[in-house]
Amino acid sequence: MEPIRRLIYDLDLPDLKEQFEAWGQPAYRAVQVWQGLYKQFWNTPEQFSSLPLSLRQQMADKFTFTGLIPGQVLQSSDRETTKTLFSLDDHRAIEAVLMKYDERRTLCISTQAGCSMGCVFCATGQMGFKRNLTSGEIVEQVLYYARLLKMEGERVTNIVVMGMGEPFHNYDATMAAINRLNDPQGMMLGERRFTVSTVGLVPMIKRFAGEKRQINLAISLHAANDTLRSQLLPVNHKYPIADLLSACREYVEITNRRLTFEWALIYGVNDSVDDARELARLLHGMMCHVNIIPLNPTHRYSGQATTRQRADAFRNTLVEAGIPCTIRLRRGIDIEAGCGQLAIETTPTP
Ligand code: SAH
Ligand code: SF4
Repeated sequence: MEPIRRLIYDLDLPDLKEQFEAWGQPAYRAVQVWQGLYKQFWNTPEQFSSLPLSLRQQMADKFTFTGLIPGQVLQSSDRETTKTLFSLDDHRAIEAVLMKYDERRTLCISTQAGCSMGCVFCATGQMGFKRNLTSGEIVEQVLYYARLLKMEGERVTNIVVMGMGEPFHNYDATMAAINRLNDPQGMMLGERRFTVSTVGLVPMIKRFAGEKRQINLAISLHAANDTLRSQLLPVNHKYPIADLLSACREYVEITNRRLTFEWALIYGVNDSVDDARELARLLHGMMCHVNIIPLNPTHRYSGQATTRQRADAFRNTLVEAGIPCTIRLRRGIDIEAGCGQLAIETTPTP
């Protein structure tokens, strides 16, 4: 039987050096390969043409360079947002999105196939949990787009970990992926260029705070009282708002970094001026920012997007209360980018 090949992006540089050492190769060879992967974005052994042929063959036998098979590609009508559906080695589907605004080239990447958190308005939540991605599978989404952008003379500038899945439910792989992309001898994507979004897993927020990283953190809040939040985000039963907000305040205190709260405005559910006042009371005095996003309606949730007028009133209420906030119009809404909606339509439900 053919031995199972490891995904090469699952390795850190020291792992790669160890492998090369086992092959009787000098460490600088491993660095050469690392740079090929993370600076040139090569994805076939043949591209490493400065290596001896026998070594390239060893690499081909030991490693696979493609853990993700790109499938359907959708482009928004303004051509600024591209979404690619990938198939994993076990045929699970995930997606990653490229957004081009101004000079930024922002990727939205996935950390899990599906998600176990069950947020009622989320297409990924509606499909349930399939499995965690490995760190290499997370990394490869970035390399895929980096390769495409490189051909256009461009580069990835920002990464938002807001695709399918809950990154703090796959904490180690998510952090390992960020570290690998951050590596000074490789792609060198600065920590500040990353934003990780969590549904609010309190122990992990505390752990993340303790690591004092420069990575940005966003919290999906969506409701300012436990009754409503538990209806929308079942995880709130386990980690209610008081616990969540106390972890958030701890995070800001320890890291001295501004926290982002996300709020998807759902018509008649959480988009009134009273809702905004309740939120302002909750966040009072905290170094934070609120991202308001009109709900992107999904098939299995009856809630609708708010109106422009209600969104403006919501924002004005927050601003008057001294809470900085921005209304983010969803990009690529015509290709259902950003919340697992393509995957849910093409993945058969069990
Ligand atoms: N699991 C993480 C990150 C992925 S979801 C989290 O929940 O934070 C990224 C963001 O999209 C979250 O704020 C999530 O609440 C939001 N989201 C999910 N479905 C949405 C929808 N249908 N409309 C608007 N925002 C949605
Ligand atoms: Fe999971 Fe985030 Fe979707 Fe909730 S919103 S189900 S945590 S992906």
